[in-house]
Amino acid sequence: MSSSAAAELNLSTSDALFTRAKNHIPGGVNSPVRAFRAVGGHPVFMQSAKGAWLTDVDGNRYLDFINSWGPMILGHAPEVVLNAVQAAIPASLSFGAPTRREVEMAELIKQMVPSIEKVRLVNSGTEACMSAIRVARGYTGRDKIIKFEGCYHGHGDSFLIAAGSGALTLGTPDSPGVTEGVARDTITVAYNDLEATRQAIEANKDQVAALILEPVVGNMGLVAPTEGYLQGLRDLCTQHGIVLIFDEVMTGFRLARGGAQELYGIKPDMTTLGKIIGGGMPVGAYGGRQDIMDCVAPAGKVYQAGTLSGNPIATAAGIAQLTYLQEHPELYAELNRITTRIADGTRQIAAELGLNYTVNQVGSMFSVFFTSQPVHNLEDAKTSDTEAFGRYFRAMLHRGIYLAPAQYEALFVSTAMTDELVDHYLTACRESMREAH
Ligand code: PLP
Repeated sequence: MSSSAAAELNLSTSDALFTRAKNHIPGGVNSPVRAFRAVGGHPVFMQSAKGAWLTDVDGNRYLDFINSWGPMILGHAPEVVLNAVQAAIPASLSFGAPTRREVEMAELIKQMVPSIEKVRLVNSGTEACMSAIRVARGYTGRDKIIKFEGCYHGHGDSFLIAAGSGALTLGTPDSPGVTEGVARDTITVAYNDLEATRQAIEANKDQVAALILEPVVGNMGLVAPTEGYLQGLRDLCTQHGIVLIFDEVMTGFRLARGGAQELYGIKPDMTTLGKIIGGGMPVGAYGGRQDIMDCVAPAGKVYQAGTLSGNPIATAAGIAQLTYLQEHPELYAELNRITTRIADGTRQIAAELGLNYTVNQVGSMFSVFFTSQPVHNLEDAKTSDTEAFGRYFRAMLHRGIYLAPAQYEALFVSTAMTDELVDHYLTACRESMREAH
């Protein structure tokens, strides 16, 4: 097909930094997906960002659809968050003792996510998920957990089994280094398959402590729950005394103020949070029913701790961002509207080229799957043409559009996205789709 070629990017400083980085850092990056392995080429090293735009170390600008993998829902460097951080800094960067802001943050989280009766702050989504299953095990006295193929819950041992995100992209959904004993305690089931979950529970009667899932999955690309699926899981967990954990690290405060659980009206027993909760700083949290959370030390005996947990600067950023979201509920409808324009426009462009591609969207998250198969689970997602996706990714990058550098990731839209910027994206999308096929 014909195409209008994009101008060549000067990435010389990025390339030089990547060469240096590879000498010192495994694969040259501190998180695998950043290496662009799945799409070819070298990673772009970033210098600064404002609103919807990133600027790299060579001075190129990109319209950003990653938004730091979710945290930057207000766009980059929003004044409200920067001001809060700047105001907090002079009082010291860490105390290792309780602070007022930790109390305020806990109160705010509980107001926004009412299923959470008590909450513990940690430093990442990984920590939140690792801790949540330990608590569920302590609470139930059972060992096994059920997780879903293609869901990613961070890099804790128990979760690197049929994992999504970078682990899936790199072909290592079952990571070496996870012991057989740990792997045995993680049962994996296809997402959106209630019957398979019922069977897994029956086959492991009275042994399953927790069922953990992304209620809307972002880590095999964006996959929504089918009608009645989340309620079905809720009922199964209640019936069998299993702790239902919603991993809302991506979806929390994004799909609605109260996350996917608010959007779908389902109350989990526990929730894990990250990303948006820190406004770009390293924050995670896990919380839930009081009787379960009171198992956590020092209230109870399940141990979990953190030198920097509840950090004063991180909580300043988190409180500022969450407060803004709480005070501006109208922004969710606008995020939904603008992301629907992006998703519909992309679907239409693919169709014009005779490509019946699947574009999944929930609120301000979406994915363009390079397959005509509707995508409800990992098997569906894997029918995507990842080679064509790689060509599309590179064509978009060269037109100044920064997409996730892998098919099996969700894209995130921030409040800095405008209709004019959507038009800009759609023009690049049309040209890049042509170039990729
Ligand atoms: N859970 C989900 C749903 C995630 O998407 C992620 C990260 O992308 C995690 C957990 C792990 O969070 P972190 O990378 O902050 O450790």
